[in-house]
Amino acid sequence: MPELPEVEVTRRSIDAPLRGAVVQGVRLGKPLRWPLGTEPAQLVGCRVGAISRRGKYLWMPLRCQDMSPDEADPPGLLLHLGMSGSLSLSAVPAPAGPHDHFDLVTDRGSLRLTDPRRFGAVVWSPGLQEAPAARLLGKLGPEPFDPALTPASFHAALQQRRAPIKAVLLSGDVVVGAGNIYACEALFEAGIDPRQRADRISRPRAERLLGAVRATLARALDLGGSTLRDFHDAHGMSGAYQSQAAVYGREGQPCGHCGSPVRRIVQGQRSSFFCPACQRR
Ligand SMILES: [Zn+2]
Repeated sequence: MPELPEVEVTRRSIDAPLRGAVVQGVRLGKPLRWPLGTEPAQLVGCRVGAISRRGKYLWMPLRCQDMSPDEADPPGLLLHLGMSGSLSLSAVPAPAGPHDHFDLVTDRGSLRLTDPRRFGAVVWSPGLQEAPAARLLGKLGPEPFDPALTPASFHAALQQRRAPIKAVLLSGDVVVGAGNIYACEALFEAGIDPRQRADRISRPRAERLLGAVRATLARALDLGGSTLRDFHDAHGMSGAYQSQAAVYGREGQPCGHCGSPVRRIVQGQRSSFFCPACQRR
């Protein structure tokens, strides 16, 4: 599943080439998770603005002449890669394959969403502050690198949750972006057992955990930047990151710190990998 680092690296790769591009056409394939929400012809002539990211959503603002644009909150497309989606940009698109379900053709190239499982989405919204964008993004927790997310606010949010810390991280309520692999790695780095109740984590340990989440995601972003060409599919980057993971996917292998075998348990139907010696409740 594409995680926040993949989505951010994707954003960086398409933002500069597409900024200022004029939409010439839209091709829809099979239905995605949600309908587009507007007539494709409405998008022709719109100019692409700076693409931003919130959680695992990308927001592509569009300046469209006949839509009485609100300068502060223009309409646009909200994109999500779902379970198996990936975006690619090409000067001249190849003929659409069976898994290519959205093409945005512009005067600066074509953006294509390839998504075999079709849990991804491209949704029109009249603004970022309007439904449906506001409704979808409003549920998300703070961004991991938002300076407003402090050790104190992170600890305070954990104090409100009795669930195991691993589940709380995956929920995205206290911070977005800690998907399964990154949550496992951050908990290892912070020395916290994934089963520990979130509200029992002390302030100093919460601070370590927030630092570990940020460091883990920063490393993934660095890796993504350096290996972008190698992951044409949505799983490539997590796969590349996994090869350097300390505990994720390493059940039975010796912990790099202490040599104890890495354990795997199932929490909420997801695998948690951890070192029972290095990670404490
Ligand atoms: Zn260990």
